[in-house]
Amino acid sequence: MNTAIIVAAGAGTRLGTETPKQLLPLAGKTVLARSLDAFEAAESIDAVVVVAPEHEADRYCRNEVPSGVRKVTAVVGGGAERQDSVSAGLAAVPDGTRVVAVHDAVRPLIRPEDIDAVVRAAEESGAAVLGTPVTDTVKRVENGRAVATLDRSTMWTVQTPQAFHLDLLSEAHRRARDEGVTATDDTALVEQLGRPVTVVAGRRDNIKITLPEDLRIAERILENVPRSHRTGLGYDVHRLVEGRPLVLGGVTIPFERGLLGHSDADVLSHAVVDAVLGAVSAGDIGRLYPDSDEEWKDAPGSVFLNGAADALASAGARLANVDAVVMAQRPKLAPYIGEMEAAMALALRVAPARISVKATTTEGLGFVGAGEGIAAQAVATVVL
Ligand code: MG
Repeated sequence: MNTAIIVAAGAGTRLGTETPKQLLPLAGKTVLARSLDAFEAAESIDAVVVVAPEHEADRYCRNEVPSGVRKVTAVVGGGAERQDSVSAGLAAVPDGTRVVAVHDAVRPLIRPEDIDAVVRAAEESGAAVLGTPVTDTVKRVENGRAVATLDRSTMWTVQTPQAFHLDLLSEAHRRARDEGVTATDDTALVEQLGRPVTVVAGRRDNIKITLPEDLRIAERILENVPRSHRTGLGYDVHRLVEGRPLVLGGVTIPFERGLLGHSDADVLSHAVVDAVLGAVSAGDIGRLYPDSDEEWKDAPGSVFLNGAADALASAGARLANVDAVVMAQRPKLAPYIGEMEAAMALALRVAPARISVKATTTEGLGFVGAGEGIAAQAVATVVL
């Protein structure tokens, strides 16, 4: 198996008052979350170790690894220098790791296919790095004056990820530690062992977020990357009983019976919540709000819809639309449809036009037709 070490150990300022670059927002997600997403999608990577700032591993584990990210096997604290942080990550890679890919979290525009290319190259040659040829003319500048023009024809700038056989990188770090050597990247340490490093042609848009203007450049690059869509499905049923109000889509509807449940049993809202959660792989309503928890007793559907909206936001996703259908033999729901759409849109914090509700009978068939219960289905599409 192959493991990525994502180095996110940079502190803000020395005072710790400024948000470190890996946690800055970039088009709706943190810089770190964007890097994690790319490794989640890379076929060549099986596990991910995140290196957080020293003493912040727990907090990063809780707050900074999005719930949709499944490959993270460890979050560890880093050291004072980048090299110390990579060493800390190396100590935490899972057993059976053959190739490690070291990536700086502050390169959030890395593409999964480029991760795969550099990992495959390292599998074959032992060490590989993404790079691009230098196209500008490079000068040596001293005291504000150009004193020499370098031959750019053999010059490349290298990026991350940088991938290595685990034993090779471990040996390079051990040697560097013993000899007190520091380097700005891992390939330099491997070169010092006399081992060649394959350079895989990367892309110039795999930029490093170093200056505030880099975030704006990254945002512009992202605008041109096709967005991905995801869809979730929700289904729910509740039993109709005497002595309960009937609430559907957050709207109380006059009827002689109502739905039975631990919460207010708003079957339509529940189906919509499950659809939205499903679209970002954030679990389901039963898992997030268990019946055993008294906090959710008689809770209105809007509470769960709010929670689903939060889950979308933390996944960096936007709701494109929800389409739902309520299956009820009686009462007639047509007069309440617009109100249900508006109420659920409000709870999901989107425009009502993004929510569609339909109602149908089941022609007297099944439990719905017999008036024993009401069912609802929903699909939600989100844009990432
Ligand atoms: Mg339910």
